[in-house]
Amino acid sequence: MRLLALIAVALILGPFLGIVVDRAAGRLRVQFEHRCVSCQAGQGTSSMIPVLTWFRSCGRCGRHKGVRYPAVDLMLVASFVLLGRRFDDPRVLMPYLLLSAVLVTLSVIDAETHLLPNNVVWPSILAGLFLVLVVSGELGYEQGIYSALFGAGLLGGTLGLLHVAYEPGMGRGDVKLALLLGLFVGWIEPGLIGTVQRILYVMLLAFGGAGVVGLAYNMIRRRKGEIPFGPALAVATMLVVLVSPGLI
Ligand SMILES: [Zn+2]
Repeated sequence: MRLLALIAVALILGPFLGIVVDRAAGRLRVQFEHRCVSCQAGQGTSSMIPVLTWFRSCGRCGRHKGVRYPAVDLMLVASFVLLGRRFDDPRVLMPYLLLSAVLVTLSVIDAETHLLPNNVVWPSILAGLFLVLVVSGELGYEQGIYSALFGAGLLGGTLGLLHVAYEPGMGRGDVKLALLLGLFVGWIEPGLIGTVQRILYVMLLAFGGAGVVGLAYNMIRRRKGEIPFGPALAVATMLVVLVSPGLI
């Protein structure tokens, strides 16, 4: 029942995130209404019906919305279900659901545009921090606040140093994203040593994953291409969040 509810929420939320991606990639101007990416004709509220939206085409120019909308929806369903099985307490589950929605959105944007836009990243960091503080207060989990802030500082600081040392490979957006990821990786369990371990796992998985994907990509394309690092960081963080035992 609980998992069905999570799937329903993911499918309702998905089309809205699809629009955020379209806007961030510059295909849509920011407007109150959902419009066609090709001819900018208004699509009406029926274009937001979960799942049915995958099959819709624009009424005026016939342009199909493409595979991005189903892809976003399915990634969101998968991460909501996995997180729903991982966290029992809804007060803890909610902030991680928010995190996964942000990560799906930013990963698709980064894969397409090689950018992590400030107007998505900064509000997410502030919302994440707010939820961590409020929920920790509610649960009497003060230690969690310290390890969350420590995690944010550690992952953000490390990638910040890499950004200074190796600017073309590590963008400023990755450093800001790392603040958000470190916050949630730290929050799982109090204690500095455990947090350092989890942050190390995130970095190993992210650099390893990006390395393998980058190598395969360059072999297929036979030339050097820039691989966006955001999705690798996002996947690595979700894996560590899902498998680490944690107290909360
Ligand atoms: Zn159109």
